[in-house]
Amino acid sequence: MDKQTVFAVDQENYLPVFARYSVVLSHGEGPYVFDNEGKKYIDFLGGIAVNVLGHAHPALVRAVAGQAGKIIHCSNLYYTEEQAQLAKSLAALSGLDKVFIGNSGAEANEGAIKLARKYGKTISPDKVEIIAAEHSFHGRTLATLTATGQPKYQQGYEPLPGGFKHVPFNDIAALEAAISDKTCAVMLEPIQGEGGVVVPDQDYFVKVRDLCDKYGALLILDEIQTGMGRTGKMFAYEHLGIKPDITTLAKGLAGGVPIGAFIATNKAAAAFSAGDHGSTFGGNPLACAAANAVLKAIQDEKLLANAEAVGEYLVGKLNALKEKYPELITEVRGKGLIVGAKLTRPGRDIVNECMKQGAIINCTAGDVLRFVPPLNITVAHVDEVIAILDKTLAIA
Ligand SMILES: *Cc1c(COP(=O)(O)O)cnc(C)c1O
Repeated sequence: MDKQTVFAVDQENYLPVFARYSVVLSHGEGPYVFDNEGKKYIDFLGGIAVNVLGHAHPALVRAVAGQAGKIIHCSNLYYTEEQAQLAKSLAALSGLDKVFIGNSGAEANEGAIKLARKYGKTISPDKVEIIAAEHSFHGRTLATLTATGQPKYQQGYEPLPGGFKHVPFNDIAALEAAISDKTCAVMLEPIQGEGGVVVPDQDYFVKVRDLCDKYGALLILDEIQTGMGRTGKMFAYEHLGIKPDITTLAKGLAGGVPIGAFIATNKAAAAFSAGDHGSTFGGNPLACAAANAVLKAIQDEKLLANAEAVGEYLVGKLNALKEKYPELITEVRGKGLIVGAKLTRPGRDIVNECMKQGAIINCTAGDVLRFVPPLNITVAHVDEVIAILDKTLAIA
């Protein structure tokens, strides 16, 4: 199919819920992706923080192909070695105890919300409230879009599930005013991703943890975007000096194969028993083999250190662009390889121009350019993107 045919077929047949860019992607290699007319792009969006190993990473390709030839799927009524191995790795890496594997971020958060509700009920029948943050993003299912503190994702879907409250992010006084013995969980992203790469004060989460402990509420950290090494640690909370009771992963976990997981302490997990939650596809051997390969590559290729070092380099280069274009960029923020550049105006045209010039980046929260590239990029790749962005900003 040529490009125009794909556009036409999509427009006629696919639900028009995505504001897509006018490009048909066909294949990739490392941090590069190609469209179906052969044009090459450097990909600093990585499928929105998903392709942590880039495209067509040999170890991931081998794992997926090898597993597909053995067994792609079997029911969770049976054990598989791949799933047991992944659960063991995630429990060890997180410092938490029990893992459940689903198919997406929203599903991981949905499971975390369900577990928090059940846990609350083990203490008191009215301990059911969940406090989340304004400008957060937790997914598109009814419960997770209700947790999401952005009305645009909620409008039209009322009645929304009850029991959710929102407070400003990084405002401990607001959380203190909202939390009570009725709170079963506080649900937050360590760094707000879709909300515009918002990094809270260093001590915010220590205080959040203290408040949760004081009121017997679980702390759920949504690491769907920040986890899997993105910030230079496997989990962003490792920078914060605290541990959550439940954390959720998805995006980068299997390098692009659909997967999601929540991981809980034994204390929280004890609220679930056989039959309380489940999934047909979740944790199938194909997805788990992919995730196991991603975890191994992150370790073998020292990608945590790379994310930290190359992330610092990227921030430095963006700060130089901020000096050069103060009328366009007002702030550069992030940690490791989740980086945002706050603009003085909407960023969509800048993203479009970068795309024309061969770089894929994205704009979130309207005016924040977001960079969430593969974790195995080099400084030379950063230079490539920065050169394109520089050219773009010069004519913006
Ligand atoms: C992407 C994202 C989700 C939702 O993940 P899906 O796989 O799209 O359901 C939830 N939380 C955060 C922080 C995310 O970045």
